[in-house]
Amino acid sequence: MDPSAPPPPPPIAQPAPRCQACGYELTGMSVEGVCPECGSRIWNPNQTPTSGAAIASLVLGCVAILSCVGFGPVSLLFGIPAVICGEIAARQVKRGERGNASAGLALAGRIMGWVGIVVGLVGVVVLIIMLLNP
Ligand SMILES: [Zn+2]
Repeated sequence: MDPSAPPPPPPIAQPAPRCQACGYELTGMSVEGVCPECGSRIWNPNQTPTSGAAIASLVLGCVAILSCVGFGPVSLLFGIPAVICGEIAARQVKRGERGNASAGLALAGRIMGWVGIVVGLVGVVVLIIMLLNP
């Protein structure tokens, strides 16, 4: 054995990439291709679909903000699910299932949802005071 020979590089421990949809092992396949087993897109951070929960959160948040004008209970009705959907989307992003675009949408949805909840609560309080003092 030649002592001057450099030691072989240690093998790099790497988990086998697997299809997100069916779990098929995708070792050596292009991340831009599709799974040969189920035909779904092979995971790529830039191509992960936008989270449906993030979009729902944004839409509900928008409605919560728009309905702030005079309708406290309506803002609450939309603000609460907006925050919940935003939380679901944020968890999807944290687990790496969705990209950063979803994180931005989820944050915007949650902020608008919270604004809707706060304004909605104020609206409900005002409504109660008005009802108690005709
Ligand atoms: Zn698959």
